[in-house]
Amino acid sequence: MTKRFWAPGRVNLIGEHTDYNDGYVMPVAIELGTTVSVTPAETMRYTTATAAPAGWEKYVEGVLAQMRARGLEPPPLALHFESTVPLGAGLSSSAALEVSTALALLEAVGVEMPLMDVARLCQQAEVETVGLGCGIMDMFISLHGREGQAMLLDCRTLEYKAAPIPADIAMVIADTGVRHELAGSEYNTRKRECAEAARALGVSSLRDAVEDGGSKRARHVIGENRRVVEFAAALAANDRAAMGELMAASHASLRDDYEVSCRELDELVECAARCPGVIGSRMTGGGFGGSTINLVEERQTDEFVAALKDLCPGARLRVSRASGGARRIQ
Ligand code: ADP
Ligand code: MG
Repeated sequence: MTKRFWAPGRVNLIGEHTDYNDGYVMPVAIELGTTVSVTPAETMRYTTATAAPAGWEKYVEGVLAQMRARGLEPPPLALHFESTVPLGAGLSSSAALEVSTALALLEAVGVEMPLMDVARLCQQAEVETVGLGCGIMDMFISLHGREGQAMLLDCRTLEYKAAPIPADIAMVIADTGVRHELAGSEYNTRKRECAEAARALGVSSLRDAVEDGGSKRARHVIGENRRVVEFAAALAANDRAAMGELMAASHASLRDDYEVSCRELDELVECAARCPGVIGSRMTGGGFGGSTINLVEERQTDEFVAALKDLCPGARLRVSRASGGARRIQ
């Protein structure tokens, strides 16, 4: 009687704050995810096994509202969520929650929706009901993740291409444990600043900008889009030095020009650079706390983790492979 669906969180290798600027991103689905157990009920009910701040139901209600806006009315269900993605750690527990909800509700109405339309539905839920003006990256990768692969996504055309991660490269996620209250409002402020910069530059979005016109926000977005394309080439060529340099440049740009990093993230990136086996390190996700993603020589993973733990004892370190996308599991 109970059906279960699973949706992964993600890291983003490079291309931060570019998705809502019609740019490029390179996310990877991870092995941490959210499972929803679904049973028929008298009335629609949501519960969670995870300690979540008040108001978490908005993410679920947003997805339901988007279903209804498309003429789909699910029967009453009891939805119970359990997550292995830490909440607010920049690993997109929110997209995992939305996408697992969407899969459950779509199954309940018997509709097979193209994955990109499901991603769009979940993004609209977060924008319209939660009130965060996010792009499509997190929902896209939770649905389109593939084992062993990153995805290069053009957020304007929604064309995407799988990019294999060499088996001897490991991903180490380092969570600062810092959760800034302001993250949501600052995010929306950045989005507004980008729209203003685009207007001043006479382009419809910063994707089209070639000069920054003195705007630090535009400078980040223009440079970051270029870095994603270069990183994809470096990954394909297995040029680890170039990958590392591009990740470092991305982090510096997010810190200095986009101003979304924080002391704990900067410290983790600086410490990672001194650890054995490191290929590259940068903050991942929206910023203001959350996590860094570290690419590490696989055979040196244990040494890297031990050394980083030693230098930054406050951080929580997790190793993950690139995972497949959201699916029914029972
Ligand atoms: P991130 O997506 O990086 O984890 P967000 O602030 O975007 O950070 O989303 C975190 C929010 O999503 C939580 O505060 C909570 O409201 C909601 N959430 C995510 N996963 C769950 C869950 N399993 N149960 C309840 N709420 C959740
Ligand atoms: Mg989120």
